[in-house]
Amino acid sequence: MEKREMMYEGKAKKVYSTDDPAYCIVSYKDDATAFNGEKKGTIVGKGVVNNRMSNFMFKLLEEKGVPTDYVEELNDRDTVLKRVQIVPLEVIIRNKAAGSFSKRFGVPEGTVLKCPTLEFCLKDDALGDPMINNSQIIAIGAATQEELDAISAYAYKVNEVMIEFFDKCNVDLIDFKIEFGRLPDGTIILADEISPDTCRFWDKDTGEKLDKDRFRRDMGGVEEAYAEMMKRVGLN
Ligand code: UDP
Repeated sequence: MEKREMMYEGKAKKVYSTDDPAYCIVSYKDDATAFNGEKKGTIVGKGVVNNRMSNFMFKLLEEKGVPTDYVEELNDRDTVLKRVQIVPLEVIIRNKAAGSFSKRFGVPEGTVLKCPTLEFCLKDDALGDPMINNSQIIAIGAATQEELDAISAYAYKVNEVMIEFFDKCNVDLIDFKIEFGRLPDGTIILADEISPDTCRFWDKDTGEKLDKDRFRRDMGGVEEAYAEMMKRVGLN
């Protein structure tokens, strides 16, 4: 399959049409943004890490019963995906407090949560992706009750699979954001990506951050952290 026109350029990826309307090709860039696009930069090699790691995770999740949009990795940066309509929600699961959760609720970073939490943000850059609850999602028509039930069940399953996998990599999965899409028949499947851009990964022994927080917080060692995660996952 080959790229035709570019349909969409996002912050970290470009999406191309193909000769088959049921598929598209995503191309991962090294561009990095944070704080709703306020902070911009480049993380050399990030596109390769995110493409390969995300594909690896989506394949694992498929095996474990979570349907995804993954079809075929073409090269280090490009992947064929099923074309979906993205549900305009960021679905966030947390195992330990960090980031906006710590700020909003005054819970110190690293606090073990008594159960994983599930929260939704409405995908809307102009509004700054506001947090939204289930009844609000249904009320504005962003998703139906049935879709939210499927999304929530898949999100917890993704968390279980990822915790178990990353534990073997000596990595603590703090939290992550995923997105879902609708196939033409309405089926909900996992879409977008799973990578150090969208997850918080802490080394299990030292607590060292191995994710995009190094970029967000100007900690240095950003490229090294992405490369380390690639190695831990067993891709290299
Ligand atoms: N996240 C993301 N995209 C966003 C917001 C958050 O991928 O636009 C991820 C982030 O990397 C972290 C999790 O979702 O793994 C929870 O992020 P949080 O709500 O704490 O927001 P942040 O502190 O990153 O702004």
